[in-house]
Amino acid sequence: MQFSILSESFERMEKTTKRLELTSILVELFKNTPPDVISKIVYLIQGKLRPDFEGIELGVAEKLAIRAISKSSGIPSKKIEQEYQDGGDLGHAASKILEQKTQTTFLVEDITVERVYETLYKIAKLEGARSQDMKMKYISSLLNDANPQESSFILKILLGTLRLGIAENTVMDALAIAFTGSKDNRKFLENAYNVSSDLGKVAETIVAKGIEGINDFHITLFNPIRPMLAERVKSEAEAIEKLGDKFSAEYKLDGERVQIHIKDDAVVLFSRSLENITNYYPDIVENIPKRINSKQVILEAEAVAINENTGEFLPFQELMHRRRKYKIEKAVTQYPISVNLFDVLYYDDTSCLENSYEKRRGILEKITQEDEFVKLIPMTTVQNEIEIEDFLENSINAGCEGLMLKTLDGPYRAGSRGNLWLKLKREYRNELGDSLDLVVIGAFFGKGRRTGRYGTLLLASYNEDMDEFPSICKVGTGFTDEDLDQLYQILSNKVTIKKNPRIISEMEADVWFEPELVIEIVASEITLSPIHKTAFNELRKNAGLALRFPKFTGKIRAEKSAENASTDQEVITLFRGQKKVTQNEAEQY
Ligand code: ATP
Repeated sequence: MQFSILSESFERMEKTTKRLELTSILVELFKNTPPDVISKIVYLIQGKLRPDFEGIELGVAEKLAIRAISKSSGIPSKKIEQEYQDGGDLGHAASKILEQKTQTTFLVEDITVERVYETLYKIAKLEGARSQDMKMKYISSLLNDANPQESSFILKILLGTLRLGIAENTVMDALAIAFTGSKDNRKFLENAYNVSSDLGKVAETIVAKGIEGINDFHITLFNPIRPMLAERVKSEAEAIEKLGDKFSAEYKLDGERVQIHIKDDAVVLFSRSLENITNYYPDIVENIPKRINSKQVILEAEAVAINENTGEFLPFQELMHRRRKYKIEKAVTQYPISVNLFDVLYYDDTSCLENSYEKRRGILEKITQEDEFVKLIPMTTVQNEIEIEDFLENSINAGCEGLMLKTLDGPYRAGSRGNLWLKLKREYRNELGDSLDLVVIGAFFGKGRRTGRYGTLLLASYNEDMDEFPSICKVGTGFTDEDLDQLYQILSNKVTIKKNPRIISEMEADVWFEPELVIEIVASEITLSPIHKTAFNELRKNAGLALRFPKFTGKIRAEKSAENASTDQEVITLFRGQKKVTQNEAEQY
């Protein structure tokens, strides 16, 4: 398949933000795609090579790309950098520069989607001393044969700056229309996606086997299932209103969610954002198969740092010391954990997702042999406010965040946040109701004690519809000296020459970062703001939402990706739920 078909679609998609138009461009593109290329197209339109959980990253730095453009065009790097600074992004700069290059008309190898994909894949897999030179060679070989438009998009994919605003739902809409004739069939594709987290595989299946094949889509061990999430509630009464008169209550542990896939002795672990985190937990890999009576199973658990002497749960930050590439064995002994199971999603070669929660818990209890390391999360059934309150007290005293409340007869709704699971935290009873997980997008240099470090950070929420990061506040309080050092170290690696186009901010930061790092923030209030961009124009024309008196809680949420940060919709819900917004005001918004 000619790459130009794809790059022309990219160009049309870049020009529109309307979902309907994006969908129809995609439908046309999919219809022009041969079956054996469909999965590649689905990954590439999202700027990926494989599903996220495989962890294949292109990781090409701007500097290297500039050198490759220079090599292909014969134009000095300095001039390319200048062009880049003057406007547009590096992809556009490259296409402008390459237009000046006289194209050779013969000896040009065809640029096909397959060739581009395979070359990008090789680049992603390169490691070691000579990898930078090899990457440059591969990139310039593509640029030599590509036309300016194609070059521009190849570079955007390489740099991770291809932002077409295509949400996964839009891809599924388009696949449903292109291959089944009706958008209504998206729900079947969605089910398949929720149990595989692999849109490429879903696309291949619908093309090859149609709706029947999609409905016959099975859970595959070692392909992560998208996690079920919980709604917040503020009080016991609200929980009873939503769940009825009898439901389960479990401790809400403050650790890291881990999806555990076991087949015989092979164990693979996935995080909440479906990243493969097996390497961080060699102790789980070694011990879990010995405590579970099943050869093929998918479990969900919360890994929590513990005090080895007393068995007490320790705060989340302790666990994050495990997130290191080197000397992991040392971290394992230094920061011991326990694994606290709360669900089973696959057992005995069969999916458990349609089973009621009660039945799943039953299976979990049957197959688990508890010890000091592997435990079942404490659970009870509750029927009234007093019982919930009592269990909540116990959980807080045991060092937990609060309770998870779950319907007994509900299935496991992969990939959705709904009313079958609720979370009740102590802090929800406060004014704002909850902490927020926000993305660090920029910083301002510090003064005095903070000279040479970032004194204030600029933070953003996540706008799911637009796939963007709108600014929500600046934060300069709550940081210890140690935090400031640590944040400076982490963030220095994320500095970009220019503001990433997904960042929406009117403020001019001293430095901009790749939107990647997520930190936890509390605040006294959410207010309407003329400057900040969260939920902009949603509640009032020309106004967004901002946090008042934000404060860093000390938690770096290393296990969350930027797309898992608090969304604009969540901020709107919190805003509406604020005690200070009176009923009248709330109705107004
Ligand atoms: P939070 O920031 O509160 O962890 P979240 O967005 O990560 O929220 P939610 O669905 O809102 O996820 O809250 C559920 C989270 O709580 C799970 O992702 C899991 O990590 C954790 N958790 C702790 N105990 C339990 C439990 N008993 N059952 C389910 N999840 C639990």
